[in-house]
Amino acid sequence: RLYNQVQEMKGNIRVFCRCRPLSKEEVSSGYTTIVDFDGAKDGDIGILTGGSTKRTFKFDRVYAPRDGQGDVYADASPLVASVLDGYNVCIFAYGQTGTGKTFTMEGTEQNRGVNYRTLEELFKIAAERKESISYSISVSVLEVYNEQIRDLLATSPSSKKLEVRQAAEGFHHVPGIVEAKVENIKEVWDVLQAGSNARAVGSNNVNEHSSRSHCMLCIMVKAKNLMNGECTRSKLWLVDLAGSERLAKTDVQGERLKEAQNINRSLSALGDVISALAAKSSHVPYRNSKLTHLLQDSLGGDSKTLMFVQISPSENDMGETLSSLNFASRVR
Ligand code: ADP
Ligand code: MG
Repeated sequence: RLYNQVQEMKGNIRVFCRCRPLSKEEVSSGYTTIVDFDGAKDGDIGILTGGSTKRTFKFDRVYAPRDGQGDVYADASPLVASVLDGYNVCIFAYGQTGTGKTFTMEGTEQNRGVNYRTLEELFKIAAERKESISYSISVSVLEVYNEQIRDLLATSPSSKKLEVRQAAEGFHHVPGIVEAKVENIKEVWDVLQAGSNARAVGSNNVNEHSSRSHCMLCIMVKAKNLMNGECTRSKLWLVDLAGSERLAKTDVQGERLKEAQNINRSLSALGDVISALAAKSSHVPYRNSKLTHLLQDSLGGDSKTLMFVQISPSENDMGETLSSLNFASRVR
C-alpha cells in the first residue's frame, strides 16, 4: 500500500493540504486567488505573496478546489482501515474559520465528508471479515470549549466535570461519557445528527460557537479474533478543530479574550506535541491542553496521524494562509 511506503519514509505523521474554491462573495468583491497548484501532483503548493515572489510549501498531498470529497477520502482510507488492524488513528482538520474544516470532516448530505465515509468503510470491512473477526464499534461525540469537555450525546447535563483519565490497561478515556454502540451506518447518521443538534443548544450563534470549539468524534473498535480468541481495542479520533485565526486586538475583550487564549493554548499544544513526536523527542507534552490529553493514545507510539491543513485561495486571507501553512510545515 502507498500509505505504508510513505510511512516507512517518514514515520507516522502525514499532512494533506486542501484549498477551498473562491466564494461568490470573494469573486464579487474582486478578490483573486493567490494559490499556485502547478506542483500539486508532487505535493507542492505555492503562495503568490506579491510582485513575482512565491513561497512554496511541501506536503504529502495537495488538493485543489476542484478535488472532491471522494478524492480526499481515497487517500485517507488506508489509515482508516488500519484501525481495524488494531492501530490508533487521529485525523484532524486545522485552519482559519471558513476554509472548509467542517466541509472536509462532516461534509453535507449530498457531499459527505471524512467522518461518514470512515464509518461506512469500517462497517464494510467488518462485514467482509465477519467469518474470522467479530467487531464491536461504538462512538462518542465531544466538544472542547474553553478547556472544558462537553458530552454531545449526553441526554442530561452531567453534574460532574468531565476529565481525561488513564485506565489501568493504559488507555485514556473520559469516565461517564456516552459510548453509543452502532451496528450500521443508519445508526451512525442518527448519532452524528444528535451530536450536531446538541452542539447548537445553548449557543445563540452556532457557526460562531463551532469556530471557537473543537468538535471531536471518537470511534472505538473492539475486535475479537474468532480463530484464536485474541482481543484488541483501538480508537480513531476525527477532529474538527477551532478556527486558527488570530483575532484583531480591538475585538478581544472579556469572554472573547478567554476563548481566544484557550484556542491558542490548545492549538499550540497540538503543534508542540506533533513536533516533539516528529523530532522523536523523549518528552511529549500531552498534558498541556484538554485536546492533546484526549488525543494522547492516538498521537505518537505506533499510532497514525493525519492532519488536513485547510486554506482559503483568496488574496485577502494571505496572512492567515501563510500562518496555517507554516504551522503545518512545522509539524511535518
Ligand atoms: P470551516 O469549518 O473551516 O469554518 P466550512 O467547512 O464551514 O469552513 O466551509 C466554509 C464554506 O466553504 C462552506 O459554505 C462550505 O460548504 C464551503 N467549502 C469549503 N470547502 C469547500 C470545497 N472544497 N468545495 C466546495 N465548497 C467548499
Ligand atoms: Mg466549521
